[in-house]
Amino acid sequence: MKKIKEKCLDVLYPPRCPACGGILEDKQRSICPQCESIFHPVSEYYCMKCGKPVNETEEYCSECRHRERKFIRGRSVFLYNAQMKNSLLRYKYYGSREYGKYYAESMCRYVGRDIKSWRPDVIIPVPLHRRKKRMRGFNQAADLAERIGKILGIPVAEDVIYKSRETRSQKKLDAEERKKNLRNAFQAAGPVTGLRILVVDDVYTTGSTVEAMAECLLENGAKAVFFVTLCTGNI
Ligand SMILES: [Zn+2]
Ligand SMILES: [Zn+2]
Repeated sequence: MKKIKEKCLDVLYPPRCPACGGILEDKQRSICPQCESIFHPVSEYYCMKCGKPVNETEEYCSECRHRERKFIRGRSVFLYNAQMKNSLLRYKYYGSREYGKYYAESMCRYVGRDIKSWRPDVIIPVPLHRRKKRMRGFNQAADLAERIGKILGIPVAEDVIYKSRETRSQKKLDAEERKKNLRNAFQAAGPVTGLRILVVDDVYTTGSTVEAMAECLLENGAKAVFFVTLCTGNI
């Protein structure tokens, strides 16, 4: 029954390429072969703390060098360039949810080894406020978390952390304003005592969201917090 439903959906809404938006001829693929090089993975030189690109000689990015982080480590897969921005817009706002397959597969392919080495007990996506989730129809971080959890065999707990109030869009705020904007915005619905937690989100910019999540998780008993995001950048 599920198969028939999936087939009908494929005819009505054929899966599309997350890079060019074209219909995928080969249903086994999640991106067209000629588009594979469009998204740029973070190079081999990245911050040992937050995963941001750094110069060959640097161990930490300038932000991690100057402040203490609540999380232990994190990685991002792609650079948040114009192509990735467009792709994410279609995924988040224009119904191209099948892109999640390519995103999650890439996250596991590029940073799956790091994730496993962190030995997380559970994956927790960055929550959206319930009103925002209702408007958008889904939480992209939860979609990525579900898919990654399935591939790597790690349980996912979506509703443990929730957003208790709506916050302004972070886009036009600087690092300090972002921190203030998110203060106490995340709440725990229950304890996470003694757990090693992997936080999942779509974009990492200044790290204020992941920091606020980590703070909330640690206050509620978490043992260690790590994160992975699909991309990292400043636009
Ligand atoms: Zn394509
Ligand atoms: Zn860093």
